[in-house]
Amino acid sequence: MARTDVIVLGAGIVGTSVAVHLLKRGLSVALVDRGGAGEGTSYGNAGIIEGNTIFPAAFPSDWPTLLRIAFKRSPLANYHLAFLPKIAPWLLVFRAASQPERLVETAQAMRPLFARAVAEHESLSLESGAAKYLRRTGWLKLYRTEAAFAGLKRELDLAASLGIANVPLDRDAARALEPSLAPVFRHAVHWTGAVSVSNPLALTRAYAARFAALGGLSFTGDARSLHRGGTQWRVDTASGPLDAGEVVIALGPWLPDVLDPLGVKLPLAVKRGYHRHFRPQGNAALARPVLDAENGYVLAPMEQGIRVTSGVEFAARDAPPTPVQLNRLLPAAHELFPLGEPVESQPFGGKTWLGARPCFPDSRPVIGRAPGQAGLWLACGHAHWGLTLGPATGRLLAEMMTGATPFCDPQPYAAERFTR
Ligand SMILES: Cc1cc2nc3c(=O)[nH]c(=O)nc-3n(C[C@H](O)[C@H](O)[C@H](O)COP(=O)(O)OP(=O)(O)OC[C@H]3O[C@@H](n4cnc5c(N)ncnc54)[C@H](O)[C@@H]3O)c2cc1C
Repeated sequence: MARTDVIVLGAGIVGTSVAVHLLKRGLSVALVDRGGAGEGTSYGNAGIIEGNTIFPAAFPSDWPTLLRIAFKRSPLANYHLAFLPKIAPWLLVFRAASQPERLVETAQAMRPLFARAVAEHESLSLESGAAKYLRRTGWLKLYRTEAAFAGLKRELDLAASLGIANVPLDRDAARALEPSLAPVFRHAVHWTGAVSVSNPLALTRAYAARFAALGGLSFTGDARSLHRGGTQWRVDTASGPLDAGEVVIALGPWLPDVLDPLGVKLPLAVKRGYHRHFRPQGNAALARPVLDAENGYVLAPMEQGIRVTSGVEFAARDAPPTPVQLNRLLPAAHELFPLGEPVESQPFGGKTWLGARPCFPDSRPVIGRAPGQAGLWLACGHAHWGLTLGPATGRLLAEMMTGATPFCDPQPYAAERFTR
């Protein structure tokens, strides 16, 4: 039986970043996953380190958008009808948190984490030999209609007051940045401070390699074996049982598999999302990710090709894939950019990848102690921004666990907001 100070469950971008930060503060750390580092949700995202994020994705407030979603005509969202009764309570809380004044509150609560996001990736990628995966070219959001662009006013005003850099562009100026885009849009905003990643899997693997180089140990094991043995926590691994006084659960969408049996119920839901890679035609290329705002998809240049990522799908986490949104958005994507042949989603094979964004209804993660469970910590629910916030979360949680002064007030991310 092996013993360590801390066991981190889940080697996604969040767990791996937490593990590195704990190790650097002098603790012995074991990182446990049933697969390889970064092969879960952290593999398939759009690769955007969105330190610029102001408002979270919100429940639609206008009837035309809602009706298009309800009639399954919109690429923005899909749902499994049989799942609606289950997700309805969560959706009601999400809708309440989408009121304009609540969105401003969320923006303020999340700002310290987002403000730190790019700098934490910069330094971790540098020490991990992974800076080559980071592109400092910002990201570009496109608007096809005047109405959609006009709807940005509040966000751009808040960005100005918070000092978040962006450059509104007309069509020609945007196409000067990205000449392969067709002139099917009217306006764009270039968020110049955002950074993007050309291979999110390689980035998490590099952070895991850094963890190993610093003396961290990785184990293959099933996190669901977590149980208490006296004052210690124990997890069974392929190398035998592992004991620690403290455990961090960083299982992304799989959090409830371990937390529910312990009697801690948190309102985590998933917003599923898909991607598919395409070869660009001829010399077409993108220097940065591009969002087609009204159609809710991103074209993200990756080492594998152009990764087209979908909007959200409300369905049971483990229900079979239903990638209908890709079919709905692909005509718009082909119109915008010369996509060529689809490419396999390496290294996992298959043309369409399905992932599950782990989301709390107030669009904030949980970072901190698990209520009522001594020695148990949580780093989960990073929704649309897990890649962005992984390293900043790692720093914050490691500071909290080692009694250092946290770089920001962790109170907005406490699990107790759901259990009080
Ligand atoms: C289509 C799409 C696009 C996205 N785009 C972006 C983006 O551009 N920018 C951004 O910041 N975020 C983006 N996200 C969100 C981001 O990918 C997630 O928030 C993030 O990957 C979550 O990381 P994690 O480490 O919490 O979870 P994961 O990466 O899922 O890691 C959890 C780990 O737990 C392991 N695990 C699960 N169960 C067990 C078990 N029983 N035993 C052992 N191990 C277990 C898994 O194997 C996995 O490695 C996107 C998501 C999707 C779906």
